[in-house]
Amino acid sequence: MRGIPNKLEDIYSRVLVRPNACWESIRPYWAIRIKGKSILAHRISYCLEHGLDPKDIKGKVVRHECDNPKCINPDHLMLGTQYDNIQDKIRRGRAKYRAVPLYDEDVLVQALQDVAGGMSQRASGKKHGVSQQYLSQLILGKFTRTHCLRLQQLCQQINGPSNEK
Ligand SMILES: [Zn+2]
Repeated sequence: MRGIPNKLEDIYSRVLVRPNACWESIRPYWAIRIKGKSILAHRISYCLEHGLDPKDIKGKVVRHECDNPKCINPDHLMLGTQYDNIQDKIRRGRAKYRAVPLYDEDVLVQALQDVAGGMSQRASGKKHGVSQQYLSQLILGKFTRTHCLRLQQLCQQINGPSNEK
């Protein structure tokens, strides 16, 4: 590949490469120094995928279709102009970057108790001020945050033994 040392492909060894998912670097807009120049890893990724030299895309923006600035999965990257990039941001409203809210564990336990008791996630969420989406993710064990044992037990109870790994 002209202009790009092969070792640049090593950028993929620094991220978790998964099919159909974002390949996230530690920080957004991860930059790598090459010959004293700083190049963004997602731009390198795009170039490697399309057999281009970073110089070929000078002045162009490599956009994240997934709107995840940490991502360097070439499937999620496309070339555009700064204008496109700004339009993307406006269109998406950056909604995906909302931080996961921190709910009080007691509140979550109460909400889960209601769900375990047969209440719908939506109704319980409304009652306790917890988003239904959050509840559903919580029940599915999607959060790495360590929750209290009572909470974990409730999630398991709602999930049922069939979903246990
Ligand atoms: Zn992505």
